[in-house]
Amino acid sequence: MMRIDKYLAEMGQGTRSEIKKLIRSGRVMVDGETVKKPELKIDETTQKVSLDGKQIGYAKKEYYMLHKPAGVISATKDDRDKTVLDLITDKKRNDLFPVGRLDKDTEGLLLITNDGELAHRLLSPKKHVDKVYYAKVQGKVDESDVKAFADGVDIGDDTPVKNADLRILKSGEESEIELTITEGRFHQVKRMFHAVGKEVIYLKRLSMGSLALDKTLTKGEYRSLTEEEIKKLC
Ligand code: URA
Repeated sequence: MMRIDKYLAEMGQGTRSEIKKLIRSGRVMVDGETVKKPELKIDETTQKVSLDGKQIGYAKKEYYMLHKPAGVISATKDDRDKTVLDLITDKKRNDLFPVGRLDKDTEGLLLITNDGELAHRLLSPKKHVDKVYYAKVQGKVDESDVKAFADGVDIGDDTPVKNADLRILKSGEESEIELTITEGRFHQVKRMFHAVGKEVIYLKRLSMGSLALDKTLTKGEYRSLTEEEIKKLC
């Protein structure tokens, strides 16, 4: 059971005070009857709530996989730029956030949810969750880099990064690689290549733990996680 004003606020229909006003003005119905008391308790699992005739379903937890395009910020709000939350156009809740950050110019898998416990588990340095990236790198990536990354490269922090698995897909003036890391340090992949004298010119995250980017999602597209994907992650 929960208060009707809290229900509508969680579902992103306005601030608590805005919602109180619209309830008092008779715009909200519960099971087909107009309600005028913001403190009214309802059963969010069975009762039907509508605002101006439009049904507002309740979701306790939401999980979305976004194919983040370059140019949007991994934050919930930004004064200048579009955020990843702006791309989730049919979200129900108002408390979603991205699990970790991708740089503005990085593309690929981003999990967006309001499940704080799951986010904590995925981001905790103790859990060593694998993150796999594809990158185009300026410079010839070779076996010496594979070894340096396997040993743990020094990127100027207090401690070197943990050993990382580097797979060379193409070695040349411009190389292509796949890199698996278990931490999530600031600009980690770019700084790792910088430490071995190379520059990342394109970066895309392919997976995080058991969750892989759905190849059918084009840049900017998203979908809800399946029950199975959620279960595997949790
Ligand atoms: N490493 C980076 O350098 N940037 C990202 O966005 C993610 C990992």
